[in-house]
Amino acid sequence: MVLARGVSIAILSHLASIKSIPHRTELVAEYLVDQSDRQISAAKPQSKKGRAMGLFTKDIKTMDDLFMHTLQDIYYAENKIIQSLPQMIDTASNPQLKQGLKSHLGETKNHVKRLEQVFKMQGQKPRSIDCPAIDGIVEEAEDVTGEVEDVDVLDAAIVAAAQAVEHYEITRYGSLIAWAKQLGRAECVSLLEQTLDEEKAADKKLTAVAESKVNPAATRSP
Ligand code: FE
Ligand code: FE
Ligand code: ZN
Repeated sequence: MVLARGVSIAILSHLASIKSIPHRTELVAEYLVDQSDRQISAAKPQSKKGRAMGLFTKDIKTMDDLFMHTLQDIYYAENKIIQSLPQMIDTASNPQLKQGLKSHLGETKNHVKRLEQVFKMQGQKPRSIDCPAIDGIVEEAEDVTGEVEDVDVLDAAIVAAAQAVEHYEITRYGSLIAWAKQLGRAECVSLLEQTLDEEKAADKKLTAVAESKVNPAATRSP
C-alpha cells in the first residue's frame, strides 16, 4: 500500500513536470479521478504541519499514537518551563509572587519525573517533540516583560505570562487524562491527575497574588 502510494505520487509529480504535454492539468485531474480519496488528498498542497509530520504518510494513526505524541509534547513543555522559570523568578519583585514561582519550579521538576514514569508504564523511553505552543508562550512572555519599565507593572506581566503557561499545561493534562481513562490506563490517570491538580493550584495561587497584591500595586504605580 505504501509502495503503491509512493509510486502514484511519483507518476503524479512526473506528469506535472512534463511541460511539453498540453493539458497536463487535465491529465493529472483524470488520473486523480481514478484514485481513492486518500490519493486525491495526498496530491493537495501540504500544510507546513503536514510536511513536518511526513509528506504522505501520517505518523499518528491511533489514539495510542495520539496519547504518546501529546505525552512527548508536554514532556518538552515541562522541560522548557524548567529552563524559563528561573528568569521569571529573578525578574519578579513581589516576595509572594517570587516564592510562588519558586515552589512551582520545584513542582515542575516533579512533573517531569511523573511523565518519565508514565513513559515507562507505556514501555517507552522519555522523548520530546517540539511544542511550538510553549515556545511561543515563553517567547511572548520574554518580549512583553522586556518592554515593561515599572517593576510593579512587570509583576503583573509576569503573572499573566505564568498563567498562560499554566493554562497550556492544564489543557494538555486534561486531554491526556481523558484519553488514558478511555484507554483503560488507570495508573497513568492517577499520576497525570496529581500533576493536573498542582497546575490548577499554581494557577489559583497566581490569581490570588495578582488580585490581592500585584494588580493593586501595579495600578498605584505612576
Ligand atoms: Fe507542569
Ligand atoms: Fe504543544
Ligand atoms: Zn505548571
